[in-house]
Amino acid sequence: MEKTIGFQVLIFISWIALVPISIYAIYVQFPPAFNIDWPLLIGLTILGLVTASCPANINGVPYFLIQWVGLAVFLRFGLFIEIIVSQIAIIPLIYRLKLTRQDIYRIPWNSMMFLMVSFISGFVFLKLGGTIHSIDPIHMVGYGLLYILVNNGVNHTLIKLSGFLLGNRTPFFTMEDAWDYLIGCYVLPMGISLYFLCEYVGIIAIILLGIPFYISTKLLQLYGISNKLNKELSEAAHFGHQLADRLSSEETLDLFMEQVPKMVSIDGFYMIDRRKQTGILSILKAYENGQTIMKNVTHKELSKGILEETLYTEEKIKFKRRMEWESKSSDYLLPDTQSILVLPLSRNHEMEGILILTSKKKNFFKDYQVKILELVCSYFTVSLEKARYVEKAKHKSERCGLTGLYNYRYFDEHLTITMEQLKRRMISNLSLVMLDIDYFKKINDNYGHQSGNDILCGIADILRREIGEHGTIARYGGEEFVILLPGYSKAAALHIAEHLRKTIEQQPFEITPDLMENVTHLVVHVTASIGVSAALEDTDDAPALLRNADQAMYIGAKKKGRNRVAGY
Ligand code: GH3
Ligand code: MG
Ligand code: MG
Repeated sequence: MEKTIGFQVLIFISWIALVPISIYAIYVQFPPAFNIDWPLLIGLTILGLVTASCPANINGVPYFLIQWVGLAVFLRFGLFIEIIVSQIAIIPLIYRLKLTRQDIYRIPWNSMMFLMVSFISGFVFLKLGGTIHSIDPIHMVGYGLLYILVNNGVNHTLIKLSGFLLGNRTPFFTMEDAWDYLIGCYVLPMGISLYFLCEYVGIIAIILLGIPFYISTKLLQLYGISNKLNKELSEAAHFGHQLADRLSSEETLDLFMEQVPKMVSIDGFYMIDRRKQTGILSILKAYENGQTIMKNVTHKELSKGILEETLYTEEKIKFKRRMEWESKSSDYLLPDTQSILVLPLSRNHEMEGILILTSKKKNFFKDYQVKILELVCSYFTVSLEKARYVEKAKHKSERCGLTGLYNYRYFDEHLTITMEQLKRRMISNLSLVMLDIDYFKKINDNYGHQSGNDILCGIADILRREIGEHGTIARYGGEEFVILLPGYSKAAALHIAEHLRKTIEQQPFEITPDLMENVTHLVVHVTASIGVSAALEDTDDAPALLRNADQAMYIGAKKKGRNRVAGY
């Protein structure tokens, strides 16, 4: 959820009003001892900073284990010093969270949360009889346990409360909360050991325990990364199969645009098309802040900015932060963009397109993610190519090669389906118009087959233009055309047929006769005879509807002198 400026300012003001004064009050109420071991304190603070900079990663969630240093500092130096150290440790923690501009309020917010957690756990410890800097092991273990339990409990409650207040509610007890408590079992013995070892060997304890602690969090990080990688790879494979299942290029494109932002939570995603031969760039699909949008960017703008290098090298390119690309003009990107990944989409060693992925976070794209994205891109280009082949093959199998109209096979199937729709009352009427060019053989005989073909194409153009989306047009035979008009009564279809007849009659057709010497250019006129039949008026059977139109055309129009329209 995006936070308004007002809300952010409010949080900052609350922080200024509450935090310094609270820390001062704690200082007065729980003053630290006078003889502070400064080298040890500085050492522990550095350890706290290091711990906060390398969180353990479990199931993709970062866990900051600074509690172990916090516990040792608290047991040794008391409440006030622990609060100061944990406030300092927030700095790398905030940095690791890679906050965007809208999330800046989380700095004071987290600081207040940390302060409360520190204060309540320390307060409970002291009020229930815990002593600072005790060397009684039983006392320290018992009260240390109490401290960690309260610390976890308050932290858990505050996280839920803050989720409630900030509008990103989660169930009261999630897997992540369970991990938080489980980590308590790790930080408690580590924290107590650190405290005692500091007590007996001094600052060297930080190194003695810091190294194994660092190694174990690194191992947890690696475990987390490999788990995440496994999960994302299997997701990518699943996505690849989904892409391969798509039979149309538009569906393949849509699925890709929809799924990639889900795989990597990016803020901007643009698919750039690169036209063959001309190399003109245009945005084919765009996605910003959770939704697909229309975006018009000129070729000039696209070719100059962040894409320039990829256009030249045909290689991917990654920008970690704004500074790296700001000088290249790319004004069409989202205003707060930081990280950018540019991936070429190539097929048969030719770059057909480019993807731009952007995030408002710095250093967002991890190397392993880029590899997975490249894998998904190759799934995508292969699936798209396959879908295009399927479309081409389908188009060929359904169309007449000369006129581009549907062929007999397609029309027959389509008629059967439409007739079913009529019977199920999904459409109100269904009419069929059959059109046959008059004396077409003469055209062939007089001017040659090529001229005949030109006229067939001319008639097809007229039908396409006049019928448009109102019906389905097919070339039924040699010089016969059929038009299926769903929703049209016989009277309405007769009206259309008459309009077509007149349009054809008035249309001059330009031909280049092959069979006439010295004539290169000629204008001819043709006419057509048309028959119309309708369902359910005449029949509810698809072949009968065709037969009826044919009969009407033959008996009612051809036999009666041609160039006329007849209903069945
Ligand atoms: P009618 O008025 O009775 O329909 O006479 P017609 O000459 O138009 O009819 P007929 O059935 O005798 O001839 C149809 C002609 O259409 C025969 C054939 O040469 C021609 N034809 C069929 N398919 C094509 C084609 O694809 N291209 C060309 N150029 N001619 C074709
Ligand atoms: Mg004819
Ligand atoms: Mg004919």
